[in-house]
Amino acid sequence: MISHYPVFRFGAEPGLVPKLGGLPWGLPARMWPICEECDRPMSHLGQLPADAALALDKDEVLFLFKCEWDSVCSFWEHDGGANAAFTVPRTALGNGPTAAPLAGDEGAPVELPELGITQWKAADDGAPPEMQDDFYDYGRHNALPDEIAHPHDWAGAWRTKSGGVPYWTANGAQQLPPGRLLLQIDNWVEVDGANVEVGNFCSDGTAYVFVDRSLAQPIYCMFINR
Ligand SMILES: [Zn+2]
Repeated sequence: MISHYPVFRFGAEPGLVPKLGGLPWGLPARMWPICEECDRPMSHLGQLPADAALALDKDEVLFLFKCEWDSVCSFWEHDGGANAAFTVPRTALGNGPTAAPLAGDEGAPVELPELGITQWKAADDGAPPEMQDDFYDYGRHNALPDEIAHPHDWAGAWRTKSGGVPYWTANGAQQLPPGRLLLQIDNWVEVDGANVEVGNFCSDGTAYVFVDRSLAQPIYCMFINR
């Protein structure tokens, strides 16, 4: 199936551009998510406007956040309240970077490295479309031939992408919330030939963003598998 693989640069232009890290552009301050476990503001993980390479409703912008405080909150869980994935219509956004709220005397949450996405490259992820449902079942995925389940031997370049089927980590389809893969982001991405750590994904995990379109309003969630 066709997936879209991002090309990164260090830093990002001001404005509503696709990027990981840095500060979100135009997000109303009241929408900055607070971790339900530690009650502190989360760190901004990414802003991704709708694009031919990212299957969001037109004019929606996806925002991703996760708790980066002390690594004690369950930020890898899709329902733990220590990460957040949601969309905001462009028309509801302001015009400038949104400063992170402060956590009392502890100051602002960690600001993750700002990595702009300069383009998305389309490529086949190796999964035949008729087998895509097998990627959403632990046992059936486990039984797939290696060249279909993980055709690139888990090479990092294939673990961050939009669309297609999940490129699961070596532990397979562990957490499996309702919905289908929207995009996934590996712990490490290549930027100008260097490996850059996107955030704390348990050192070698991959973050998966799923969308459940079975309801009138799509529901987004994020989780991290190792
Ligand atoms: Zn927390």
